[in-house]
Amino acid sequence: MSKTKKAGVMGWPIEHSLSPRLHSYWLNEYEIDGSYERLPVAPEKLKDALHDLSSQGFCGVNLTVPHKEAALKIIDRTNQPITAHIGAVNTILVETDGTLTGVNTDLFGFTQNLLTHDVVVEDKIVTIIGAGGAARAAAVALYDMEAKEIRIMNRTLERASALAEQLNAFFDLFVPAPFHRKKPLIKVFSFDDGTALEGAGLLVNATSLGLKGQPPLDIALDPLPKSAVVTDMVYVPLMTDLLVRADERGHKVIDGLGMLLYQAVPVFELFFGVEPKVTTALRTHVLAKS
Ligand code: NAP
Repeated sequence: MSKTKKAGVMGWPIEHSLSPRLHSYWLNEYEIDGSYERLPVAPEKLKDALHDLSSQGFCGVNLTVPHKEAALKIIDRTNQPITAHIGAVNTILVETDGTLTGVNTDLFGFTQNLLTHDVVVEDKIVTIIGAGGAARAAAVALYDMEAKEIRIMNRTLERASALAEQLNAFFDLFVPAPFHRKKPLIKVFSFDDGTALEGAGLLVNATSLGLKGQPPLDIALDPLPKSAVVTDMVYVPLMTDLLVRADERGHKVIDGLGMLLYQAVPVFELFFGVEPKVTTALRTHVLAKS
């Protein structure tokens, strides 16, 4: 049997994913006998695809849109209770007995990306646009970073309300260190309610709007204080329409590539046993046209 460690990324569509370039760079850099493949998997095929991983020799896979929440119902366990509370997994580990463990490293990636850019959210109001898996990970990260108020703005108000309810319940629980923080206030806003931006210190796009092939995120930035930082989880294109407009208004802007690179650090270590470094050379490589 081959000793080559096999991993990959499942999504639908998957062509846009930069994860193969990223992990291949590190495999080469650290001279590891491994591979990382792009795996197109339609939503209705996810269960079978995950259950086939062991027999196909995979040590694990990353998950991207639209699989992160659906996978939770298929896997055998999560690595920590907090992963189940986030309600989404971006990494699946295939254990030696073939069972599947779900992990969420988006929280780590989101936090590291902000910390690298010296963003402080302690005692600040943060507005998250979106209420899917990425928004959940961001909300939990912002709780850990001691945000004062988290505003969730979403097209489907019911989904935002459901997320707020879940987050409130989660923040009410006793959560072991390092997560025992002061509970932030959670508020819900409809997608076109500009008051959601008033007084915010950080604005986060956690929707897929602005992604290549999707419409831009069409919200007025006027109510946003000029001192606010604006970050977008979308990284194709790197400078989304939102970031371009925010930059023109003089905001500090942070693109989504940093989050992608940092969320991959614990993933690579879990798959291949080496803690990789995020460097400028890596960023340049990932951005270069193949
Ligand atoms: P998801 O669970 O499918 O959630 C999608 C979100 O986008 C929902 O809030 C949805 O609103 C909103 N949305 C989609 N189309 C819309 C439209 N036409 N108008 C208004 N809102 C719309 O996806 P996710 O996993 O949270 O991912 C969200 C984005 O973050 C994706 O682009 C993903 O690639 C990106 N992401 C990036 C990183 C990174 O490392 N940089 C990590 C994770 C995710 P409704 O609730 O109304 O449907």
